[in-house]
Amino acid sequence: MKDKIIFAGDSFTWGEGLELFIDSKKWINQRELHSEWPELELLQDEESVLFREKNRYPTLVADELNIKPIVYPDNGGDFSQHLKLIDCIEDTSDVKHIFVQLSQINRNFPHLTQDCRCTLCMNTGWKPLGQLIYAISENKITPEVKFIMEVFNCERIDHEFLGKFLQYSKWINRYVTELFIEKCKEWEDTIAPIHFIDSWSADDSNYWSTYPYISDRTIDLVRKDGTRTKKWRDFIKTFHHPYISDIYPNTVNGHPTPELHQYMAKSVILYLKENFGY
Ligand SMILES: [Zn+2]
Repeated sequence: MKDKIIFAGDSFTWGEGLELFIDSKKWINQRELHSEWPELELLQDEESVLFREKNRYPTLVADELNIKPIVYPDNGGDFSQHLKLIDCIEDTSDVKHIFVQLSQINRNFPHLTQDCRCTLCMNTGWKPLGQLIYAISENKITPEVKFIMEVFNCERIDHEFLGKFLQYSKWINRYVTELFIEKCKEWEDTIAPIHFIDSWSADDSNYWSTYPYISDRTIDLVRKDGTRTKKWRDFIKTFHHPYISDIYPNTVNGHPTPELHQYMAKSVILYLKENFGY
């Protein structure tokens, strides 16, 4: 049986938008249209699924190293999805590595999963902070925002509330990150070593790097000129067209091109070869 490598990540790992590089009439036409996931989802067919899976970096790594990649079946990517992916594997004895491609902190459930039954999670409908911030920035007092305002004795969205919400966000972010790191340590003890790939979001990249557990395990990315960096923003600088929207602007799809997937694969392969003797 082949060794397995888990690739937990978001839409960048899943390969959103790669199907736009299929040279058939359907996809050539689509390159001129708005093509984010709500539009692309409706157009999926067997060919697009196979093309995406074949060209995303987990498969490119697998082809080169003769391993089996494990990727979450749906587009998305928050910590709870990683838990669903990894905790559902019955036999982990042939899992050799776990790669976690980091995303945005504020897309996570406040207490990591929807299984939490605390008052906060129940009253905010497990809404990730990113969704609450969106409502607050539009001055909308949704039931979830109202619950948090009541916790802080605030009656309106004003400077006082925003200050308190900012502090609250920092607590939630730390809490969910620490819960996830605890989970990673458990996986390292029971399954395989964990490695991180930096987030495409510059703010989040800075956030994640404040955790030594994460920065110590973040892999080098191989730039187009052959030099290496751990920072995603320095990695993509060396590509003329790192994202789909750089080649097909009308798509507005900010996901990696096939070329960028090839370099993500190259980075993982080199890391495994140099550190684990593949
Ligand atoms: Zn909770």
